[in-house]
Amino acid sequence: MPKFFRTLIAGLITLTLIGAVSASFALTGKKAKSVPTLKVTVEDESGFSKLQVSSNTNLSYSFKKSGNSLTISFKAPSGLKLDKKPFSSQLVKSVELAKSPNGYSLIIKTGAEDFTFSHSARKNPFELIVNLKLKGEKSSPPESSFSTAEKPAGQPAQTQAAAATEASAKGIGSKNQVKTIVIDPGHGGIETGAKGSFGTLEKDITLSISKKLKDDIERGLKYRVVMTREDDVVVPLDKRAAIANNNKADLFISIHANGSRRLRASGSETYFLSLNATDEEARRLAYFENNSGELKNEVSTNDFDDLKLILWDMAQAAYLKQSSQLAEIVQNELNELLNTKNRGVKQAPFKVLTGVACPAILVEVAFITNPEEEKMLQSDEFQTKVAEAIYQGLNKFLQLYEKQ
Ligand SMILES: [Zn+2]
Repeated sequence: MPKFFRTLIAGLITLTLIGAVSASFALTGKKAKSVPTLKVTVEDESGFSKLQVSSNTNLSYSFKKSGNSLTISFKAPSGLKLDKKPFSSQLVKSVELAKSPNGYSLIIKTGAEDFTFSHSARKNPFELIVNLKLKGEKSSPPESSFSTAEKPAGQPAQTQAAAATEASAKGIGSKNQVKTIVIDPGHGGIETGAKGSFGTLEKDITLSISKKLKDDIERGLKYRVVMTREDDVVVPLDKRAAIANNNKADLFISIHANGSRRLRASGSETYFLSLNATDEEARRLAYFENNSGELKNEVSTNDFDDLKLILWDMAQAAYLKQSSQLAEIVQNELNELLNTKNRGVKQAPFKVLTGVACPAILVEVAFITNPEEEKMLQSDEFQTKVAEAIYQGLNKFLQLYEKQ
């Protein structure tokens, strides 16, 4: 064969091979995009089993409990894959995926019929957390209030009536029950919160302090902790309350760093909810926190009209007295442990607190807009002290209720 032909044939073979390889790349690329996967993990935590479902696609879902199984129906295109980590759990015996008329069913078999569950979910990326636990004889809520806990987390928080039912059913001091503390790191994602002159962002400080507080609480081994966010992501305010209610929170602590146009404004303050702010400064702050960080010079009471509309739906109304006590105790601890100016306990219409069905406070740790306090807020030492102070405060508060 002349050399020319040999070169030509070799060239053609190479081209064909490249074609085949790129075609198969295109195929796998397309496959990964169009076929959603359900990633499932099961872990036992103290007193309950946690089932975590995540997916590369947002899925709508519904629950059905029957006998010893819980079925989560997903509306999903065909080809949904299950990626399940091996697990061993006291309560959850098996998790299987089956095709159903409208999509897929995730069938969770448990070792007992008398179990209850609650859940929370988020989108982008989709994540569904289902907590299953055995119905304790005294500690579990009645069926009527339980149904409210099964609502998807994206829906509005419970109504006041539902919250009140739950309050009387549960109480803060009910014994033999692991209490749940929900920590809410203010802001996140594109909602940066207040910004310091050295460029420190409130959202980063609040998350960092919240994680330290979580560690403190978990080290104490007494309470369960749920965070409204663990990463730098946007979480809408009503969803934060829904996360607390769906997890049957006993306490809700929202952590923030203060912002002011007055660079010299400084100190720590703790808030509980009221539609009427303590003063003009508190009103301005609440407006800022409610509107993802919009600083406004003049804030009138009209700016809170949407809050008035949901007054009837204000789950927090049933807990104001306890919230004020919690605020007092935490503010005292902040005064003792931090060297910041004591700005006291105040009230303001913070949207994030309105729907929470348990004692709830919002802590403004220090002023990020004050250059000196910004430096402090950045330091690991100060953050650790803040977490410690809040931890001491909530411990004292819960002990007070456990004694009663
Ligand atoms: Zn804030």
